[in-house]
Amino acid sequence: MSLPELVTDPAILCGYLSDASNSQGTADGLVRPACTAEVAAVIRHCQEHAIPVTVTARRTSTTGAPVPQGGWLLSTEKLATLHAADDADAGILLGEYQSQIEALGLFFPPDPTSRHECSLGGAVACNASGARTYAYGPTRPWIRQVEAVLPDGSVVVADRNTPSPWPVPLWREPQVKTAAGYFPATNLLDLLIGSEGTLGVITRVWTHLLPLPKHVLALFTFFPTRASLLGFLTEVRATRGPVGTPSIGRETDGLRPRCIEYFDRRSLDLIRGRVPLTEADSAVLFEIEHEGDPPLDRWVEALQRHGALVEDTIVADDDAARARLHAIRHALPAEVNEIIARSGVRKVGTDFAVPDSALAEMLDLYDDTGMPAVCFGHLGDNHLHLNFLPRTPAEWGEAKDRYMQLARRAVALGGTVSAEHGIGRMKRAHLAMMVGEPQIEAWRALRRCADPNEILGRGVMV
Ligand SMILES: Cc1cc2nc3c(=O)[nH]c(=O)nc-3n(C[C@H](O)[C@H](O)[C@H](O)COP(=O)(O)OP(=O)(O)OC[C@H]3O[C@@H](n4cnc5c(N)ncnc54)[C@H](O)[C@@H]3O)c2cc1C
Repeated sequence: MSLPELVTDPAILCGYLSDASNSQGTADGLVRPACTAEVAAVIRHCQEHAIPVTVTARRTSTTGAPVPQGGWLLSTEKLATLHAADDADAGILLGEYQSQIEALGLFFPPDPTSRHECSLGGAVACNASGARTYAYGPTRPWIRQVEAVLPDGSVVVADRNTPSPWPVPLWREPQVKTAAGYFPATNLLDLLIGSEGTLGVITRVWTHLLPLPKHVLALFTFFPTRASLLGFLTEVRATRGPVGTPSIGRETDGLRPRCIEYFDRRSLDLIRGRVPLTEADSAVLFEIEHEGDPPLDRWVEALQRHGALVEDTIVADDDAARARLHAIRHALPAEVNEIIARSGVRKVGTDFAVPDSALAEMLDLYDDTGMPAVCFGHLGDNHLHLNFLPRTPAEWGEAKDRYMQLARRAVALGGTVSAEHGIGRMKRAHLAMMVGEPQIEAWRALRRCADPNEILGRGVMV
């Protein structure tokens, strides 16, 4: 098999040299293989000539993971065929994949906010999460099998019965939602999921699917105090089932939402005009799947018990109304990005998750930023994004220091430095702080064994 064209035109290359973190890279060339055999030919050629290869998909990463530091870029954009509802090429847009299968009445739960911009393969490579992760877990449990080109150029189809060809250093992940470090499994599928383009190029993905939920009720609910919020959250979590299984999101009794999305007071101020003016301390967007009549009475009764501002609740029980609520949720990061772009500094935002017992402490710490900031995100998983809004380079420096202090505290409380965005090139120090140098060295040994010339994803993760 011959190599695909090597593009070296700077005018084309420049569109591939950064990601959503705005970090900039350099590359000597770009290849855009159209089939697995071409991917394998590229990897064999690069291995033979010790050319570093960075896999790039849609570059929505926030960690610099697909940003090349020299060598070749391998784009998955031409691998975009939907073969069957549960079988698609890795380069297909995740949102497009989901729309196509939803038209068939089928459901693939992972829903990163970027799903209309990121690829299916990118979501697998980063084990992406989203709001629905509260009920359905991250991408991992919804992947049945992948086809991948390994660093030696061999093509494998891996499922959970395929042993890793390399010795895998096992370790104990934090017992929270996490996307930091290699997954501690000896099967090749789980090792590739979340490996951020360092152990293989994923070319094709087979998924687990569910029937599309019949109805989804959304409630945008306001809480007057933190105590009221945390009291209600405790009641909701009491009926949480095993994450990653269909039963949990499908409400039949109790309070079983599929997502619990938090907005602090500062976030509400930022989106003032889109939500009712209230004296609320915070708000939460719940989504509840159901089969027949919306379980509204049960929810209102429970919210009242905890003193929520029920009369201000926005209820959305059809697609159009729910889309309006999603627009509010999505407006928030967009506002944050605009403010940051205006002040000309780089974004400093947390992606930590902590155990249930540590949520209240982290919320208090997130309140105390000493500069403008907003906090929002996946409350159900104790996974909040605190976004600092520094106005000057000096404040940016303070935000970075504060971020590292918060990371240390999250780890000390049993949490993770990255719950969904991954490590990439920008959070290696945070990962090392979390797991310790011996673990990093064990992963380096894994990488040397899989890829002696370290051509794939050089500088990513470790
Ligand atoms: C506005 C915004 C919102 C976001 N929201 C979320 C969110 O809610 N949840 C979340 O988890 N993330 C989120 N992200 C981060 C990002 O969208 C995800 O990590 C996404 O999965 C990356 O997919 P991509 O196709 O853009 O991959 P890229 O950014 O191109 O690549 C990411 C990494 O995956 C590797 N990679 C990509 N494709 C393959 C492949 N086929 N084989 C092997 N390696 C591969 C790359 O080498 C790189 O290391 C968000 C980003 C933005 C900008």
